Formats: sequence, structure tokens, C-alpha cells
Amino acid sequence: MASLFGHVVASSALGAAFFPRQVRSSTLLLAGFCAFAPDLDVLAFQFGISYHSVWGHRGWTHSVVFTLMLGFLLAGFFYKKQPDTLKTALWCALSALSHPLLDMLTNGGLGCALWWPFSEARLFFPFRPIQVSPIGVGNFLSEWGGRVLLSEAFWIGLPALFLWGLGRVVRSNS
Ligand SMILES: [Zn+2]
Repeated sequence: MASLFGHVVASSALGAAFFPRQVRSSTLLLAGFCAFAPDLDVLAFQFGISYHSVWGHRGWTHSVVFTLMLGFLLAGFFYKKQPDTLKTALWCALSALSHPLLDMLTNGGLGCALWWPFSEARLFFPFRPIQVSPIGVGNFLSEWGGRVLLSEAFWIGLPALFLWGLGRVVRSNS
């Protein structure tokens, strides 16, 4: 996994860059939840489901099908009576999808079952610069956690800032 912080920075940047009219505290929270939610699959360890199983960590919850459905369903549920439901849903779906894409840039663990249910192959990108985050808060509060935050500040924070800035420039010129 990338860390909770990395995933939420990504979802917030997507909102600020592409869905600025939809950004408010409640939608930021929902998009952030969508970006983090695939990692709730670590609960599978409690049920004895192995990391290598498609039902385990970075398995089916880290697929395009699951993440897009999660974003659309949650936004549809919470914002169904709003005029901008579709845009909010698209933002939440992209936020959820950003999760496995960021995980595939990390340098540890198993790859993501991105194409489940069509394939159970665990995939990474060829370029994996992001320091993988430990599983569990206890492990995060260590030197490893510090290295993760530094790595994410560079590889997620800087592109997020760039995306946010680019969105502002494009909108101010249109
Ligand atoms: Zn993950």
C-alpha cells in the first residue's frame, strides 16, 4: 500500500484539478474514503485469507471493476439528489481507481489484481519509485513510516501540487 496520506492527497488533488465545483468538506471526505477503502481488505488477514489469494490484500478490491463501482455507488448513494451527482461520482470513482494505480508504483508487497475478475494476475508498473507503506499503524510509527512519507511527498505530493496548479491556470485562462 501507499499510506493513507498518499491516497488522500491523490483524491484531493483530483478534486481540486478536475472537479473544483464539487469540492466541499463532505465530498473531500467521501473521495478520500474511496481512495483509501481498497485497503480495508487487510481485514482478510484476520480471517486467515492469505496475501496471495485474490480475496486477500491487493486482490479483488484493487481492481478497476471494484474501484469504479465503489466510487459510483457511494457517491450515488450519498449525493443522489444533487444536481452534480455524476461529476461527484466520477471524482469518487477516479479517486478509488487511483488507489491500485499508486500501489502499483510501490516497491514492495504483491502487485494488484487490477483486471479482476477477468484476470487474477498481480501487477506492478515497470517503474516503482514509491516506498511501500507497512501494514498496521504500529509499524508506520517507525523510521519506515518516515521514509514512506518522504517518498510520497516527492512522488505523490509534488505531482498533486502540479495538478492543482495546472487546474487553476487552465481555469483562470478560460
Ligand atoms: Zn492498497
